[in-house]
Amino acid sequence: MTSQAQEILQSTFGYSNFRQSQEEIIDHVIDGNDSLVIMPTGSGKSLCYQIPSLVRKGVGIIISPLIALMADQVGALRQMGINAAFYNSTLTPEEKHIIEDELARGEIDMLYVAPERLMMPDFLDFLSSIKIALFAIDETHCVSQWGHDFRPDYLKLNELHQHFPDIPRIALTATADKVTQKDIIERLSLKNAKCVVTGFDRPNIFYRVVPKDSAKNQLLKFLQQEHDGDSGIVYCLSRKKVMATAKWLKEKGYKALPYHAGLSALTREKNQKKFLSSEGVIIVATIAFGMGIDKPNVRFVAHLDLPKSLEAYYQETGRAGRDGADANAWLAYGLGDVISLKHMMLNSQADEKIKTIEQRKLNSMLGYAESAACRRKMLLGYFGDDHPSKCEKCDNCVEPLNTWDGTVAAQKALSCVYRTGQRFGVQYIISVLTGKEDERIIRFGHDQISTYGIGKDLTGAQWQSVFRQLIASGHLNIDIEGYGGLSLAESSRAILKSEIQVMFRNDPKRKSKKEKVKKEKIDTELKTDEQKSLWEKLRELRMSFAKKQNLPPYVIFHDKSLKEMVTRSPKSLEEMNEISGVGENKLKKYGDAFLAVINEQA
Ligand code: ADP
Ligand code: ZN
Repeated sequence: MTSQAQEILQSTFGYSNFRQSQEEIIDHVIDGNDSLVIMPTGSGKSLCYQIPSLVRKGVGIIISPLIALMADQVGALRQMGINAAFYNSTLTPEEKHIIEDELARGEIDMLYVAPERLMMPDFLDFLSSIKIALFAIDETHCVSQWGHDFRPDYLKLNELHQHFPDIPRIALTATADKVTQKDIIERLSLKNAKCVVTGFDRPNIFYRVVPKDSAKNQLLKFLQQEHDGDSGIVYCLSRKKVMATAKWLKEKGYKALPYHAGLSALTREKNQKKFLSSEGVIIVATIAFGMGIDKPNVRFVAHLDLPKSLEAYYQETGRAGRDGADANAWLAYGLGDVISLKHMMLNSQADEKIKTIEQRKLNSMLGYAESAACRRKMLLGYFGDDHPSKCEKCDNCVEPLNTWDGTVAAQKALSCVYRTGQRFGVQYIISVLTGKEDERIIRFGHDQISTYGIGKDLTGAQWQSVFRQLIASGHLNIDIEGYGGLSLAESSRAILKSEIQVMFRNDPKRKSKKEKVKKEKIDTELKTDEQKSLWEKLRELRMSFAKKQNLPPYVIFHDKSLKEMVTRSPKSLEEMNEISGVGENKLKKYGDAFLAVINEQA
């Protein structure tokens, strides 16, 4: 590693060590070579082009599709004393001129542009006249039709290399499977590029799935117990539910705002801005929200409905904890989710091939929700990564669930479905199994069949759990178009004939679980009341600086830096400089003010 890069890391960014993959890439880019970097969210991709931009002569050109976020990204760099700028359609002609002049004089370290702007002939001509350190192509999966967010503007970037054959290019993304990677290399002609793919793991995220009973109240408890005053995202399937949930959270005293594609562009922008720039805002959203949101201190992502695939789930939960501090991924899941997703799929206009893939993806998602094994291991396995054993940072590791041999229960359930004619829904079958004296049951004569009352050994809730697991694992079909009538699946025969054993998981008991999981959580960092009150004061101070400069608070300091200030309580500027994320520029600008608050409390 060049000593210059190390020096910049410390003095400008306030970090003492490179992460391993960063070091490898940065060296390579500084030497003038191309790279393809695939690293998960929060792993520190930005430094991989920011530091070479500062070390190499000329301006680093950063290509990003997310114009709305450029101002904040540039603001964050300026806080560190870096002369960054953006060049896009939001600028006035005068502002553009000023930047062009600064570029011509070689005064700008990094310039953010959108691909469509970059590839305009005039702009390319202009760039040929100045010194360029590198091109960084962010969100590079947008170039591939196999990626999940193809953008035609990105295709033109393949010409970049002909215009500037000697300038290193570094392409970066958080998500690209093997096919997409190959596609990116071809489309951008990155033939001799170094390809760095690190694991997908997000070690600071705690994964948890709770069986849904009253989802809203469960969410409220989760917020009250673990996320007082935190920012987070709550995902719902429908716009209607988004509106209702946001309204309800607001009534409960939370700063909750809705976000979905049916709201006006103005409202969406306003709400997104509030989320980015204020403390403790909760966005309640459909999947329309999130792309490119790089707010680092999202402390939780909660799902009130089951996502359609593990890809979607991993991407959405990945928005939590980009700053590396502890964060929660929390999912409430119940039988209703299975039914509504299957329903959506049946009614989709997609062709059969796509429907089959969607079905397979949903099955993997269901498998995850129902799993009794380590969730992280399962997630990483799905994306082709190995995790050695248990992670100790998921519900199933922290509080292992018992599984039980449910073969007999499954046989009872399946034969009851069969004997009642394969047309009744879950509730009715449970009533028959538990021997309810129901008027309908008597009318249909189902109090006379052999399975009437043979399930009294389990409670209604236990039977619910059995049916949910039988349906999720495909042993029972459910008539989505009609009234939710159950029928036997191909695999039911083997169960009825005792050819296979069926294992069920015990749904966790609610009371014990809360307390145990909570202990493992974020509170480990701030233990005493003094610490908590200092944390609040530092957050207020940060907010006042942020407001004055019209910037989001995390641009001043990340939560992680503030927490470290609380726990290490620095006494001097020198000690302050040791806090992670405090570089020279921020030390000069804010050091004294934060020290004053810390010392006041000490
Ligand atoms: P990505 O773009 O991969 O999602 P970022 O570049 O936004 O990730 O970095 C995520 C977080 O990690 C940021 O808060 C960043 O400041 C921090 N970070 C990056 N590199 C380091 C490092 N070497 N030491 C400490 N923190 C780092
Ligand atoms: Zn685990």
